[in-house]
Amino acid sequence: MFTRRVSSLMILVLMAVAILSACAPAATEPPAVATEPPVAATEAPVEITDTELNVLCTPQEQWCQGMKQEFEAKYGITVNYVRMSSGEALARVQAEKDNPQFDIWWGGPIDSFVAAKGEGLLEAYDSPNYVNLIDPVKMKDVDNQWVGIYVGTLGFATNTDWLAENPGVEAPTSWDELLRPEFKGQVMVAHPSSSGTSYTALATVLQLRGEEAGWEYLKQYAGQMAQYTKSGAAPAKFVGQGEAAVAIVFSHDIVNEIENNKMPLVLTFPEEGTGYEIGGMGLIKGAKNMQAAKLWFDWALTPEAQALGPVYAAYQAPTVKGVELSRPELLEVNLIDYDFIWAGEHKTEFVDKFTNEIAPAENLKE
Ligand code: PLP
Repeated sequence: MFTRRVSSLMILVLMAVAILSACAPAATEPPAVATEPPVAATEAPVEITDTELNVLCTPQEQWCQGMKQEFEAKYGITVNYVRMSSGEALARVQAEKDNPQFDIWWGGPIDSFVAAKGEGLLEAYDSPNYVNLIDPVKMKDVDNQWVGIYVGTLGFATNTDWLAENPGVEAPTSWDELLRPEFKGQVMVAHPSSSGTSYTALATVLQLRGEEAGWEYLKQYAGQMAQYTKSGAAPAKFVGQGEAAVAIVFSHDIVNEIENNKMPLVLTFPEEGTGYEIGGMGLIKGAKNMQAAKLWFDWALTPEAQALGPVYAAYQAPTVKGVELSRPELLEVNLIDYDFIWAGEHKTEFVDKFTNEIAPAENLKE
């Protein structure tokens, strides 16, 4: 597994941006949708009888709430959602296997969906809106058990006040720099047992360095931590508040903290390569409101629904054609050729190894 300057997926995404850039609005305006979007089969079929939908929602609360309201307004179906980080969500779906309480799982890196598929927890669905995908090979399960709904890259957020108080120290621009003595006890990341963000960081390191050197690195990385959090995006907030110097989080979450919460943070990327996520979606096997779940599934694969992200402070890139990227620069970085299937198939094994041999999942900060 080697780094590539820009992966084929990103080239496709960037091509989509280039095609659409002629009609790009200023970055602060709501995202534009292409004037001739691809097929969007989203009208509620008349035979739908479900009156509610239970969504297991893994992205940030604001986006979950926004999507709930948008879907309710469009289709008149009541949406109940619970926001849970990826690891917790997977554990919940596993625990409810014989009596599922959720109908659809929306958001969070697809490694967890790959793991869920491996345990027979997801329902296959051949959505008519797969035609909208930018890269159907990479962004969709071969058996139609999960699909990508957004793309995000991992970055570092460093507190600029802390940098000012520590002259001569610069924001890290490599994984090695995170191990510098000045960052001892100053790094914050979520725990991979609860967070898909953190698991993406772990799997990125293993892919960049190979397993042996990667685990050795992770031991040293653990020695730099101030504290682990439960949720993936939380370290950006805590570092912004001055509780540590550097957070490892998805870059779109850093943009959110800087632009909307006015946190004193600077965004950097590891030059030797960073990992990225495809945020996933899957129907829960045995869902009680399967018709409504399929309706959400189809809707979430339309340009209209994916253009809503930035309205709710979610700056991930879309996975469907016909949507303006809100922050194209977040993809224009050195990305590794992240292997989602490998990462998903080893998720339980690697999380257990990290938890048992490196850092237990105890006293996680909310
Ligand atoms: N929240 C945001 C904003 C995200 O981008 C992602 C990534 O998919 C997540 C949450 C995933 O959550 P966690 O890392 O807590 O599992």
